[in-house]
Amino acid sequence: MTKKALGLAALLLAAAGAASAQEQVLNLYSARHYSTDEALYTNFTKATGIKINRVDADDAGILARLKAEGTASPADVILLVDAARLYKGEVEGLFQPIKSKALEDAIPAQYRAKATPEGTPWFGFSTRARVVVYDKLKVKREDVDTYEELADPKNKGRICIRSGSHPYNLSLFGAITEHMGEQKAEAWLKGVVANLARDPKGGDADQLKAVASGECQIAVSNTYYIARMIRSNNPDERAAMERLGVVFPNQASWGTHVNIAGGAVARNAKHPANAVKFLEYLAGAEAQNYFANGNNEWPVANGVKVANPALQAMSGGSFKSETIPITAVGANQVKVQQMLDRVGFK
Ligand code: FE
Repeated sequence: MTKKALGLAALLLAAAGAASAQEQVLNLYSARHYSTDEALYTNFTKATGIKINRVDADDAGILARLKAEGTASPADVILLVDAARLYKGEVEGLFQPIKSKALEDAIPAQYRAKATPEGTPWFGFSTRARVVVYDKLKVKREDVDTYEELADPKNKGRICIRSGSHPYNLSLFGAITEHMGEQKAEAWLKGVVANLARDPKGGDADQLKAVASGECQIAVSNTYYIARMIRSNNPDERAAMERLGVVFPNQASWGTHVNIAGGAVARNAKHPANAVKFLEYLAGAEAQNYFANGNNEWPVANGVKVANPALQAMSGGSFKSETIPITAVGANQVKVQQMLDRVGFK
């Protein structure tokens, strides 16, 4: 290196050092679409002095943006709301490895995932179950207490569900493929399509409303949407929920499908230390409690207890969740997409 080049490099380094010292910021790309999350970000800034710049998009939008931005990406932390998308982010090389004793201590091993042993880890911070909701006046609980029965001809014309290619369903189907094997899973998907009351549309909350209004009798939803309506300030929403039964499927077999919301440090993070601090904050008691009571999710950190009455009531206190590795749903995604195309699940 010439003297001049060395001088320039030193100048650049000094400039970078000065910038990181004064700019206490964190650039967050988040797919968490829960308005109550504001408190999380405000509390982090209060506790650390680190300001959060947030970009909101859905899981697929965030992954596409990271890829397009490449090394120029300003993203420090990625938060996604689906295990298969986190898996995809890792496989596409969008995360970077980190070392954090605090995260290792707080997050149980099954929620510190890697697609391969050499991979870059991502962390689940909260869980949500994907359950079945039914019209108590028209459907017997024992007719919907397994996922398998969603494909049974006895439930023909009764089911409402969001698009098959939404991440929540792709992950559910990835899990079902893991439990049943590909052949049976495809037959199952075909059966579900045959039982639909209408073409898939809307989000999970729209399926709950469709059961409440009588348009369909059975729906599939993430638990926090149900808890949100049970705890709603709107009396109509609370009344609608009284007509609905909630069942955690497959309690007598492989357990209910559980997905995660989680995150990782971005491959090209410009503030990696702040990024790790933020992930550690999400694993701490304050944020974990917030997941439980602010957004009706189950916290995952060791030693954190939930006291969310809506979740308690819905699950009867506790329930059996599936035990497949959290990476299995991601690994099955290509197969699932092909099956959906073959059976015409929109
Ligand atoms: Fe959601």
